[in-house]
Amino acid sequence: MPRKIAYGANAASEFQYPENSLIITTTTPDIYEKWLNYMGIKKYDIYDKVTPDPAIETIEVIKKKFEGKEISSYIGLGGGSSMDVCKYLGKLTGIPKILIPTTFGTGAEMTTYAVVSFDHKKKLLQDEAFLADAAIVDPYFLPGTPFNIMRNSACDALAQASEGYDSKLGNPLTKLFCKEAFDILEDAIMNEKPDLLPYGAMLSGIGFGNSSTTLGHALSYVFSNEGVPHGYSLSSCTTVAHKFNKSIYYERFKQVCQKLKFEKLTLKQSLDEAADVIMPDRGHLDNNPIEVTKQDIINCLDQIVNKNPLE
Ligand SMILES: [Zn+2]
Repeated sequence: MPRKIAYGANAASEFQYPENSLIITTTTPDIYEKWLNYMGIKKYDIYDKVTPDPAIETIEVIKKKFEGKEISSYIGLGGGSSMDVCKYLGKLTGIPKILIPTTFGTGAEMTTYAVVSFDHKKKLLQDEAFLADAAIVDPYFLPGTPFNIMRNSACDALAQASEGYDSKLGNPLTKLFCKEAFDILEDAIMNEKPDLLPYGAMLSGIGFGNSSTTLGHALSYVFSNEGVPHGYSLSSCTTVAHKFNKSIYYERFKQVCQKLKFEKLTLKQSLDEAADVIMPDRGHLDNNPIEVTKQDIINCLDQIVNKNPLE
């Protein structure tokens, strides 16, 4: 976990930000100017050209652009993509990083994981150097989040909590965090209490961040590679994975996805090609509670694209 966690109402406005920070965000000025005002941050630089599912090239561009400038810290402000860019940059330069999620789903502010695209393929990386020096979780950023982004983020947090619970790397402490996260997130969605999402997502990050996600996430990347948002693709992928794993979360996860009205996924490439992309993803598959063969993957993909697992 990050050494410093500031959580709760006003956490982001009361935080003392170092001068000469570089803020990295995926959002546009009309939105982030309001945020920066609230945070009360002064003397900073900003890079706002990060796009979702960042590529290594974007990270190299930022590194080059600010080379020679005195940057005291990186501040990742936004969804998972802003934070992943900060994590990778921090590893390259050794500059400390402060992560501030605004969409509450990835839990990236808590973990040693980063997802970066190489050659148009998303890759899950893990490194202790990716860990934030400080994480700020403030529900201030929640209102105004478009429904689509909210539901994709919530689905990601739920998938991470339940896959993390089932992970082979899990232990009683990670299961405690994952279980609590799932209960809170489920309550937030089923009973329409969005205020609970930031806390649930944070706990999910601590839980799966110290175990791992598994088959559901492994299946999802072939859909993300074709442009489906991460959380959206997990609605079907994690449902099918939970069924395969006989997870205690299968029914509950599916019910939440139904409530969020996710629809069926499609895939342009053949199931066989997709399975060949998924099989080398040992980081996810080796931690799956049950061994997965290529035929199992093809069967799972068949259920996702040719049937509707959420029906
Ligand atoms: Zn995820």
